Amino acid sequence: MYRALYRVWRPQRFDEIVGQQMITQTLKNAIMTHQTSHAYLFTGPRGTGKTSAAKIFAKAINCHHLVDGEPCNECESCQAITKGQMNDVIEIDAASNNGVEEIRDIRDKAKYAPTQADYKVYIIDEVHMLSTGAFNALLKTLEEPPANVIFILATTEPHKIPLTIISRTQRFDFRRITAKDSYERMVYILQQKNVDYDEKALRVIAQAAEGGMRDALSILDQVISFGDNTVTLEDALMVTGSVTKKLLADYVEEVTSHVTKPALETMRQILQEGKDANRFIEDLISYMRDVLLYQQAPEMVDSVAMGEDDQRFADFAKQIDAEVLYQMIKTLNDVQQQMRFTTHPDVYLEVLTVKLSQLETAKPITRTEATAATNPDDPTIQKLAAKVDQLQSELTTLKTTGGSAAVAKPARARSTTGPVVKKVNVSQIYPILGAATKDDLLKVRDVWADLMSILSVTQRALMHVAKPVAASGEGVVVAFDYAFLYQKAIDDQVLMDALGNGLDRLMGQAPKIVCVPKEQWPELRKDYLTTHQPEGAATQQAPQKAPVVDEAEKRFGDLVEVKPD
Ligand SMILES: [Zn+2]
Repeated sequence: MYRALYRVWRPQRFDEIVGQQMITQTLKNAIMTHQTSHAYLFTGPRGTGKTSAAKIFAKAINCHHLVDGEPCNECESCQAITKGQMNDVIEIDAASNNGVEEIRDIRDKAKYAPTQADYKVYIIDEVHMLSTGAFNALLKTLEEPPANVIFILATTEPHKIPLTIISRTQRFDFRRITAKDSYERMVYILQQKNVDYDEKALRVIAQAAEGGMRDALSILDQVISFGDNTVTLEDALMVTGSVTKKLLADYVEEVTSHVTKPALETMRQILQEGKDANRFIEDLISYMRDVLLYQQAPEMVDSVAMGEDDQRFADFAKQIDAEVLYQMIKTLNDVQQQMRFTTHPDVYLEVLTVKLSQLETAKPITRTEATAATNPDDPTIQKLAAKVDQLQSELTTLKTTGGSAAVAKPARARSTTGPVVKKVNVSQIYPILGAATKDDLLKVRDVWADLMSILSVTQRALMHVAKPVAASGEGVVVAFDYAFLYQKAIDDQVLMDALGNGLDRLMGQAPKIVCVPKEQWPELRKDYLTTHQPEGAATQQAPQKAPVVDEAEKRFGDLVEVKPD
């Protein structure tokens, strides 16, 4: 029977847990010096080693043949725990056991001394799923911890755990695993299994797994099965569905150097690899965003995002004008919209390529090459120019005949990055605005500097461009200066969890955090106020400016323009 890699290669020693050295060293030290706690809280994204660490901890604390804090994995106790046959190590999945009864059961049974082992260890996975009643029962147990009983609570969503529980645990935040760490783990596993691999393939997989070791190994499993026991770049690309960074980098450099023909060839090569047109455009947008981000805060772009040749990425980021990148993103976005009406996306991609390579660059990169390549008499260019005209007139017809509401809508004169970001979800913001008060906002602003100080350096760099603009007892609206940083923030679940946990600690509550790009905030706020007027004001026929302003004063304390300090 085939067993999934992540099961076979589940870590059995602290040292085998990838990317969490600080945590595993602290746990080993605690075990060696007999300074363990009655209760631990392991938090972090899925696949970062929380439950593995809990099981290894259960083994180590019960193993009589410890070596530097590591379990021997050979004694009777270690083996029983590995096989899940040790009565004193109890694993509970709160996602399926969320009743009060199960926890009451723990409360009753925890009183009794362990029967086989030195310590009874309860591992409660997905602990945030417990009901309020179950949390209360658990709290009672944690308040009077029985001797020789250890609780390990694991969760992906610590902000859903009552503060009363958190305060009785020793907390460890497991980090998202870096691409480098997961790369090295895959190399180790493949070497042990004697499977041939292409290093580039592993980079592609590490990137696609986005910080979860379990996901990386699941993708690797698929790639191995595709490749008949070898790991090739081609299969990795196919399984992950991502275009190679190298080809993307080639393409971007070609269009910004105005060399249309090579760019067209690169584009065809990318499509021949089986990428669909939409994916290609999305990969391009994400590449441009990474370059923009790198220009603002290089430390926030990891080497995998830069591809195999990070020096090349860095050089390109230094040379290219941000304004050109914004223009390119806008063009990409426009073409993506237009493509929805066509059954011939490749034509649009050709047009796109011509458009991109004709954008004005403030700082031309390779002028000599550029002038040589964009010869307007070139028949390829002429043909494509004609196509552009034709497609543009088709599009105009579509718009005037109302082909679709989305496209027919006049483009707003917003920042060029506006349409690239995900649409802000008003259903999340309106309830906050509905209950927003100036006091609530001031409370959040009071703790904001402290909140920033408990974030990691990279998280702080990202939040540097953000500030709270409205708050209720239940939620906070946070506005970001740059739309692409807003996007980066909302995609970063670790950051969002860190903010939620931080507010929980500092304010004793974890309000829901909703992010918006700053450029959209004034309009969102205005839309809300005009659609949610107090009864009297809504029926007035007279200009509604005055009540809106009053309402804004009351709810948000006229804080739109207020400076953070
Ligand atoms: Zn042992």
